[in-house]
Amino acid sequence: MGKKNNPQQATGRIFYFGKTRTDGDGKQKLLLGGKGANLAEMTGIGLPVPPGFTITTEMCEEYYQRGGKMPAGLMNEVRQNVALLERELGKKFGDRGNPLLVSVRSGAAVSMPGMMNTILNLGLTDETVVGLANATDNQRFAYDAYRRLINMFGDVVMGVEHSYFEKAFDAVKRKHKAQVDTDVPAEGMVQLCKEYEKVLQQHCGEQFPQDPYQQLELAIEAVFKSWMTPRAVRYREVENIRGLKGTAVNVQSMVYGNMGDDCGTGVAFTRNPSTGENKFYGEFLINAQGEDVVAGIRTPLPVEQMSRWNKPVYQQLLEIKSTLEKHYREMQDIEFTIERGRLFMLQTRTGKRTGAAAVRIACEMVQEKLVDEKTAVLRIPAGDLTQLLLPSFSADAKKKATVLTRGLPASPGAAVGALAFTAAEAVERTHNGEAVLLVRKETSPEDIDGMHSAVGILTSTGGMTSHAAVVARGWGRCCVAGAGEIEIDEKARRIKVKGQTFTHKEILSIDGATGEVMAGSVARLEPKLSGHFEQVMKWADKYRRLRIRTNADTPEDAQRARQFGAEGIGLCRTEHMFFEGERITAMREMILAESTEARRKALAKLLPYQRKDFEGIFAAMKGLPVTIRLLDPPLHEFLPHDAESQREVAKVLGVSPAKVKLRVQQLHEANPMLGHRGCRLSVTYPEILEMQVRAIVEAAIRCKQKKVDARPEVMIPLVGTAAELQILRALAEATIRQVKQEKKFDGKLEITIGTMIEIPRAALTAHEVAQHADFFSFGTNDLTQMTFGFSRDDINTFLPDYLKKELLPGDPFQSLDQTGVGQLVDMAVVRGREVRANLKCGICGEHGGDPASIDFCHRVKLDYVSCSPFRVPIARLAAAQASLRNSGA
Ligand code: PEP
Ligand code: MG
Repeated sequence: MGKKNNPQQATGRIFYFGKTRTDGDGKQKLLLGGKGANLAEMTGIGLPVPPGFTITTEMCEEYYQRGGKMPAGLMNEVRQNVALLERELGKKFGDRGNPLLVSVRSGAAVSMPGMMNTILNLGLTDETVVGLANATDNQRFAYDAYRRLINMFGDVVMGVEHSYFEKAFDAVKRKHKAQVDTDVPAEGMVQLCKEYEKVLQQHCGEQFPQDPYQQLELAIEAVFKSWMTPRAVRYREVENIRGLKGTAVNVQSMVYGNMGDDCGTGVAFTRNPSTGENKFYGEFLINAQGEDVVAGIRTPLPVEQMSRWNKPVYQQLLEIKSTLEKHYREMQDIEFTIERGRLFMLQTRTGKRTGAAAVRIACEMVQEKLVDEKTAVLRIPAGDLTQLLLPSFSADAKKKATVLTRGLPASPGAAVGALAFTAAEAVERTHNGEAVLLVRKETSPEDIDGMHSAVGILTSTGGMTSHAAVVARGWGRCCVAGAGEIEIDEKARRIKVKGQTFTHKEILSIDGATGEVMAGSVARLEPKLSGHFEQVMKWADKYRRLRIRTNADTPEDAQRARQFGAEGIGLCRTEHMFFEGERITAMREMILAESTEARRKALAKLLPYQRKDFEGIFAAMKGLPVTIRLLDPPLHEFLPHDAESQREVAKVLGVSPAKVKLRVQQLHEANPMLGHRGCRLSVTYPEILEMQVRAIVEAAIRCKQKKVDARPEVMIPLVGTAAELQILRALAEATIRQVKQEKKFDGKLEITIGTMIEIPRAALTAHEVAQHADFFSFGTNDLTQMTFGFSRDDINTFLPDYLKKELLPGDPFQSLDQTGVGQLVDMAVVRGREVRANLKCGICGEHGGDPASIDFCHRVKLDYVSCSPFRVPIARLAAAQASLRNSGA
């Protein structure tokens, strides 16, 4: 034996696993892929794994660097490793007597189900198949294995369509009068192999390679190639998987579950992946190959029934379950095969699970002392908690559903309803007992009623912080936004998507967690809260430093958020209060007023409504801070834009339609998000600020008199200069003093005054702005919009292209751009606190409910994050995870 074949020598490019030696371990996922790393790890802890070797992901990277050529010398090293396998198993690759056969599989660092190709039974040729038949004394089995190889190889390596093989198989079945594959006798299988070889020859003009090493080389190359197939690229895009080198290639000696009735194959989870129950869960098939389980041709049996078939193997599997969980301290998803009564482990990996299962498993693993509390807290994907709070689609139903298109996952939940095209229609049909989805190009505040009535909202434009998205999230209403492939014909009451038409009578299902739009009614699961959830929340509260507030505009939302654990309101958007009933009339009167006097008169009508709203919210949040933002949107949002509605408004207000039309024209803005809005409204119309602050103070005093501890904070939006804040603060303070005097209130009533940081200039001059602010609240929706110059309402017209071309790592309105926008946040906190050490800092943009952004907020030392009520539990958990992660625990 030459030195080259020294079994002790690891190459760094190929990692062997087997009894002879095991080069890698479970930690090397980036290099060996998830599958390869776990095969090495399982071998290392003594589990029965068929030996083999893993070609590293770096080789895949090199393959592409060389313009699609195999790395130099790689096949020599492959041969050396095959030689090791041959020695360990006492078989030879390409041997006519008792051939060694291998599988070739892909395996990236992150699991990409179904994305990569697998080839089994490599090493079979017209000659070795005879050897296999003799060695196993089973001709049918040997030729069945061979025809599967030719088929897979033809499919994956040579690009021959699967249907040609199926056709050939059907012909053989007919000839042998076989109903199903298993009825085909041995000679049928022999014939089939010949037919398959002909199919290959016909459709790609090449022979099936009779040299096993040539097979191996082509298969390895095919796995490398599969890394860049459009569906693999697309999957990584959708799942946001970036920065990997490529896929590893696992070459492993074959074991067979289809040699007879003492053989079988199966897949299992060490715990139930949908409920989390600590019970071995899975299925198996007797006398079958792994692909038969996945293909769904035969119905597998539940694993519990295995003890009736082969008790010792079942016992061994249960022992392996416990070994694996003790070793990995995590729930595992395994694949196994039983060859002639002998169990082999083919794969183990961390098992995917539902949110509910994640919570239960974390709690029970702490009880079982498998993990500590901190590990348990860190393991639950915080975003998955929505599944416990909102309905979701059943996984089985979704598998069968037809996905028509995808939009942005704007607000989680699962909604099923008929299509309604206007807010009024949605209200009416809901009133008549129908479940409807409101379908709009984009929603505006005028649609509020319809949005509230509908079970879900679907828009064709708009981003993650568009009106529809923000409002829907606040209510926990399911919303898919910016589904650009949908063409809406409001007049004809129908939509078109990829050539299909759906009318107002038809039902669609929308998944707010994934953005999928599906045809028909897809079955849903209702949310359930368990004691385990409470336990996880308790742990979260123990470890987090950040406070969690909520964005809520009504007492009901505030109350709900409080039940979810909110410790205050971080953003109460007052504009949402102006749309109901008579309020909108008074609001419009105020907007149409031509003098300060007339404006004040209209505002006086709004005052009692505002006061009442605030009283309700203070009561719901008693003892906790409530940040109220003064009026923010441009005024044209409160007026209708079509002639007919304008005529109606004119009639109600007793003015001429021309006057309404003129005012709408005057208020028109080229970019409404950068115009006359935010604090600019109060600069022009101080009486608006005065009315709102008065309503706040009066409501607070009424609460105090009723012994309700109200803690209002006045927040001035869209400040760009310190001077703006200075004069508006002075005006707010004067109003507070005046109301206290009028009401002869001399009790304790502390009302702080702060600002939103939403304009880059405010962040840049935070040391000036902070001189007039008790607190900063980062409005990262507008801050993102203005830092990038991306319109938050139009981003989805080009975002897909940006993501596809990897120009952005993700939607910056969903997860904070930490490098750019984040720098402004970080800097503003530091500069603000330089002049005001006790400056309270929080975030109230939609990022406040996003786990990755919450981690950032923790690191830049914000005091709190504020998010929509249904995201409060997510934020509590994410804040704890941030704290544990960043303290190095
Ligand atoms: C923001 O801009 O981040 C914010 C919270 O305000 P709005 O979304 O209402 O503009
Ligand atoms: Mg804003």
